Amino acid sequence: MLQNYKKGLINHKISPTTQRVKILEFLDKNRTHPTAEQVYLGLKDKMISLSKATVYNTLKLFVESGLIHELTVFENETRYEYNTENHIHFKCIKCGNIFDIHEGNKIFAESVINGHKIFDYQINLRGICNSCLNKNGENNA
Ligand SMILES: [Zn+2]
Ligand SMILES: [Zn+2]
Repeated sequence: MLQNYKKGLINHKISPTTQRVKILEFLDKNRTHPTAEQVYLGLKDKMISLSKATVYNTLKLFVESGLIHELTVFENETRYEYNTENHIHFKCIKCGNIFDIHEGNKIFAESVINGHKIFDYQINLRGICNSCLNKNGENNA
């Protein structure tokens, strides 16, 4: 598995240092669109030598190389994800989690709407996620 991350880095012309591999692995395993702060907090106990600056710089490098995707659409926080395919984002107003919705591909991918040919899209939805709904019993209708 680590080998795949190394390959991914090399494919994007990034030399695969241990820290870079670990940061990419973290993003792959935490598909919650973490902020740089959350990436740092998630890794610092396992990697004592890791600094916040390294995390910020590494994420920036990954974004610039097209390896990961940067989301700046919700409020003014920047979040990161290891998934560069088009998808819709749904943000829960209660728990603040951001979920991926892939159904958009069926509607938009390479389609023509009102005569306009679509190549890519960014759609951001807001609401209450299924687990928050269940918690509050609002889903019992
Ligand atoms: Zn929620
Ligand atoms: Zn996403």
